[in-house]
Amino acid sequence: MRPSVSTSTLHEPRTLREALRLLRDEGPLTPLAGCTDVFVQLNAGAVPARSFLDISRLAALRRIRESEGLLVIGSLATYSDLIRSRLVRARLPMLAAAAREVGGPQVQNRGTIGGNVANGSPAGDALPVLAAAEASLVLLSAGGERRVPFGAFYTGYRASVLRADELIAAIEVPPVEGRQWFRKVGARAALTISKVVMAAVRSARPRIALGSVAPTVVRASRTEAALAAGAGIAAAQRALAAEIQPIDDVRSTAAYRRQVALNLLARFWEDTAGG
Ligand SMILES: Cc1cc2nc3c(=O)[nH]c(=O)nc-3n(C[C@H](O)[C@H](O)[C@H](O)COP(=O)(O)OP(=O)(O)OC[C@H]3O[C@@H](n4cnc5c(N)ncnc54)[C@H](O)[C@@H]3O)c2cc1C
Repeated sequence: MRPSVSTSTLHEPRTLREALRLLRDEGPLTPLAGCTDVFVQLNAGAVPARSFLDISRLAALRRIRESEGLLVIGSLATYSDLIRSRLVRARLPMLAAAAREVGGPQVQNRGTIGGNVANGSPAGDALPVLAAAEASLVLLSAGGERRVPFGAFYTGYRASVLRADELIAAIEVPPVEGRQWFRKVGARAALTISKVVMAAVRSARPRIALGSVAPTVVRASRTEAALAAGAGIAAAQRALAAEIQPIDDVRSTAAYRRQVALNLLARFWEDTAGG
């Protein structure tokens, strides 16, 4: 059932510290960032919560910077921020490429990378990039801070280790050696949810991550190992076919997704050949 807005409570903290205190003492609260997912879910009656925490004005969570060799992206960075950021374009061009393919300009201006991660859709465009880049998430609560490798964050379909009293504060990305590659296949060029999305890095240790082919974003570790060992693309495609579990749904069939994933793998290898 769609909750009535008039019976909802909205907390609007001015500082990060206040936000974390509210999460601890007044919870459970649903954080609101750009609201591009939450509003859709509210309309569908899929948000049981009645109490919300507006974090969208917490400037401390929006910075993109370098620190001790890491690229640190605040969770409130919008897709437009990512596209504009010289640091992101220089260090993680596959993330800028993914951001350009999210929704349209309105969604790019409001939607945040932290919202994409917390929402946890297997079709989230930023997620394969963070998996391939071996990023870590900085999770903050009133009790302190912890870091979770991106690969250990999701525990199942839209389920994660994020606690109710925590916010995703930032995403830390170590230097990525090698050629980065991103491709999203959807029903049309703009404003589309992916049928398959892939981010990959070509190096001595190839890294391949896919969305929309399993309940969570996945690293194709057996395919990576095959390529690292010098396997040809046909053998790598066989490895990939064996390690993804696409499903039939409203956007596509499992068989089509499987074929697209194999085609993307071949395209990645071809596009990044020759140094
Ligand atoms: C028209 C349209 C097109 C879209 N197209 C795409 C697309 O092409 N690709 C794609 O990947 N997505 C797409 N989306 C989905 C959405 O825009 C993205 O997932 C976006 O990144 C969500 O960010 P947000 O800030 O709006 O999140 P919100 O809606 O504010 O929040 C989403 C969830 O994350 C939680 N949350 C948000 N920030 C934090 C935080 N810092 N810490 C803890 N929890 C948090 C919220 O409580 C909520 O559960 C589209 C949405 C719409 C409406």
